[in-house]
Amino acid sequence: MQGPPLDRRGAARRRVTNALPAAISLDRPPFIRRTSFKYGLLYGLKTILWDMVADGPHILLSMALVFLLLRKRRVEPYFVTVLAASIPDADKVLFSSLIERGYVDGVIWFHRGVTHSLVFGVLLVAVLGLVGPWRAAVIGVFSHLCLDFLTGGVRLFIPLDNGLYGLKFDWVLTNAVATVVAVTVLFVELLARKYRVRIRSVLTGIDLDLRNHLK
Ligand SMILES: [Zn+2]
Repeated sequence: MQGPPLDRRGAARRRVTNALPAAISLDRPPFIRRTSFKYGLLYGLKTILWDMVADGPHILLSMALVFLLLRKRRVEPYFVTVLAASIPDADKVLFSSLIERGYVDGVIWFHRGVTHSLVFGVLLVAVLGLVGPWRAAVIGVFSHLCLDFLTGGVRLFIPLDNGLYGLKFDWVLTNAVATVVAVTVLFVELLARKYRVRIRSVLTGIDLDLRNHLK
């Protein structure tokens, strides 16, 4: 019984399974397949939501590190570190369509390319240093590069070397651990501030307040 109905169903199923990855893929923007306003809107919303989820660990980690290392009460260091930690991933949005159309090199400008290089990091710190504490910018860039280094690698040495450097720890697990640690630090810090408790290391008794060392 290999009649046409089965073939039609099979073809329909193939069409659906072929269409699904394009519709739900988080990595490959379907620029060419984007045909309707509704689809474009859904894709845009999905991209923004996914980028927020993906940038979350970077932002939380950098804020936790600023809390631990700089311990500032002003808001500027936190704004600066959030910018420094999230700007590198703008490459996902900025350059994808240019690569897709062949205007720029896919290796250098692809995600985790030029915006994840040391040269770009130094430039970003220099620019953000004009509007806020440069140490907070360093923390944002450094923590972003470290996390990406662990979860697949970054092209650290563009333009000298386009190679990808890093390790291949599980992306979801590593980011989940970073998020839990960062949220715990932030939560404890906020509680300590609220109840005016001075945080000291439980194990060594060493004062974790590093303000005097970093000034
Ligand atoms: Zn990144």
